[in-house]
Amino acid sequence: MEQEILKVLIRHAAIERRVRAVARHITGDFKGQRVHLIGVLKGACIFLSDLVREINLETSIDFIAVSSYGRGKDSSGQVRLLKDLDSNIQGLNVILVEDILDTGLTLNYLLRVLKQRKPKSLRVAALLDKPARRLKTVKADYVGFKIPNDFVVGYGLDYAERYRNLKDVCVLSLLPEQS
Ligand code: 5GP
Repeated sequence: MEQEILKVLIRHAAIERRVRAVARHITGDFKGQRVHLIGVLKGACIFLSDLVREINLETSIDFIAVSSYGRGKDSSGQVRLLKDLDSNIQGLNVILVEDILDTGLTLNYLLRVLKQRKPKSLRVAALLDKPARRLKTVKADYVGFKIPNDFVVGYGLDYAERYRNLKDVCVLSLLPEQS
């Protein structure tokens, strides 16, 4: 058994301010147009729901689910589509909404899949960016926060499906249980 230690990295108030700034940026970039937000389940659901409410444009949303991480902290390195989009994105201004950009394998895979469907434009919004671990040269057009190479939970991000409900983003450390 391991002991789980949480340390706040980004407070909810700072997240709220940054989400509003990213939304303003998107609103300015797509003036007078509709944007179609695609959330990557499950991690991006909280970020997407806060972000979309701050965008002052005509919007629509959809979700896609992939698996790259298992139940633990390490990536399997394999990306698999678990749930496809509900509707066609041809001709739409798509913004793919990610919780965190880490190795870039997930985003690289999703961009390849979505480009084939001929959206009018395709951009990426990521709440968090961990550039230290990048294996693929992909980047987000809108980034909430650049963070160091720590494993984080909260504001949608999980550890074995727990902690998604934390309002702050926290670093999770695992310590061997004392006996
Ligand atoms: P990538 O394919 O870029 O390595 O990883 C993307 C996915 O891995 C994210 O959408 C997220 O689900 C998961 N991930 C990467 N880093 C972290 C982290 O620090 N914490 C959590 N909870 N998930 C992470």
